[in-house]
Amino acid sequence: MAEPIERNELLVAATVPGDGMAEEGLRPKRLADYVGQQELVANLRVFIEAARRRGEALDHCLFSGPPGLGKTTLAHIIAHEMGASLRVTSGPVIEKPGDLAALLTNLERGDCLFIDEIHRLSPAVEEILYPAMEDFELDLIIGEGPAARSVKLPLPPFTLVGATTRMGLLTPPLRDRFGIIGRMEFYNAGELTRICKRSASILGCRISDDGAAEIAGRARGTPRIANRLLRRVRDFAEVEGDGRIDRTGADAALTRLAVDRHGLDALDRHLLLTLIDKYDGGPAGLSTIAAAVNEERDTVEDVVEPYLILQGLIHKTPRGRVVSAAGYAALGRPLPEGGGRMQETLLL
Ligand code: ADP
Repeated sequence: MAEPIERNELLVAATVPGDGMAEEGLRPKRLADYVGQQELVANLRVFIEAARRRGEALDHCLFSGPPGLGKTTLAHIIAHEMGASLRVTSGPVIEKPGDLAALLTNLERGDCLFIDEIHRLSPAVEEILYPAMEDFELDLIIGEGPAARSVKLPLPPFTLVGATTRMGLLTPPLRDRFGIIGRMEFYNAGELTRICKRSASILGCRISDDGAAEIAGRARGTPRIANRLLRRVRDFAEVEGDGRIDRTGADAALTRLAVDRHGLDALDRHLLLTLIDKYDGGPAGLSTIAAAVNEERDTVEDVVEPYLILQGLIHKTPRGRVVSAAGYAALGRPLPEGGGRMQETLLL
């Protein structure tokens, strides 16, 4: 089997070692500082204000979307805006029903509990969550066999904030118990430019508009990546320049870090080249592509493809994935005569 493609860690949307503390410092704390996701933010502003006026806990919130788009940040902001405390945990960490029971019984009135990767909760743990979310009640079974009895414990009203990268894997009963559901979108270049400028000012680093735009253009629609690229570009500016980031400096630094103009990494390029060289530009099915690039089907669909589609480099058609004219151009490949199979497929 072929070796897995080595990915550029700078362009990975999930957290990588080294992000930790640096990221915490850059998290916006108030809704007003949260860039983009306008519709969701506007709705949340209303729901938060309404809950505050009534003196109630906010309805349970569920945020879905690719990593690094600001789901955890929103959970922090909600708690802050509600004047509540936030407990942070994640699906795989809560192994037993007792672990969740311990978390829930430690909550105080109005607190927020954030469960990242909530689709990875075990069924037994989920069972505990249903009455907790719906009636603020903990249903515990004490003892075993014929002597077992069920005990109900009241919980303080709280807000569960769930985050998932795989909305499709959430069970319907769990999904139905969230009153507020938001789907996070990739950020456009203007929004990412604003995020870079905001982060630069927190880091005490001078950056020009076009410097921020240069970083934004390569950040794969993802604030986490924009902030990571900014931190590295700042290093170059401080050590090799006068500390100020402009377009030329950002471009030179990112090129040295092997960050492509379109933010494409080795796996993206490999996928596009495989489609072009082995499948004539497509159409090719998801499983075929996944096997050809030696990746899990889910990884291709959830992690690699969304950005390529967002950039218009591939199209999803009923007959499979097809490389677009922009996709050929991004790889410096000439478009086949007559626009290739892509045109035919798109016209069908
Ligand atoms: P997720 O939970 O979706 O993986 P995070 O909330 O941890 O993503 O966000 C990653 C980083 O990106 C955070 O440190 C934060 O600074 C930044 N970030 C995310 N969304 C925004 C936003 N809308 N505005 C400004 N910064 C953001």
